[in-house]
Amino acid sequence: MQFCCNICYNCNMHNSKYLESLKLNSLSNTAVRQLVFSVLSSNTQPLSMNELIAFCNKVDRVSVYRTIDIFEKIGIVSRINLGWKYKLELSDNFKEHHHHLSCNVCGAIVDFEEPETLNRELEKIALIKNFIVEQHALELRGTCIDCQIKQNTKQLLP
Ligand SMILES: [Zn+2]
Ligand SMILES: [Zn+2]
Repeated sequence: MQFCCNICYNCNMHNSKYLESLKLNSLSNTAVRQLVFSVLSSNTQPLSMNELIAFCNKVDRVSVYRTIDIFEKIGIVSRINLGWKYKLELSDNFKEHHHHLSCNVCGAIVDFEEPETLNRELEKIALIKNFIVEQHALELRGTCIDCQIKQNTKQLLP
């Protein structure tokens, strides 16, 4: 897979890949679809549905929900499950394969790429269990550095 670069989330290459995905699924590019894609593409952080709706404020909620539904089905968007909530981001087709650390306190999400050694261990587990793995998801939850600092300063106060 080819990527323009790690930090560019909104370039022509991304957009042509997006148009290609629609075409492959015999879907046309509507103004709403283009807007939702551009919003997700220009945000480096995954967005909640409410945040996405706020960015697309000229579009009604139902259309945004419907668009995301289609995008998930045809592999443009991935859903990151955070307990009973979720956030949305462009799929691995647009970003390099990665996973997330998410903060239980403030909801911040930090990306990480797993080391090769971890992948080898996962392959071993699959082999032992006689399983053919097609994809995997790793989610690490806890407290981000900012929230740790806030909690520590709170504890120091009398
Ligand atoms: Zn992975
Ligand atoms: Zn936090």
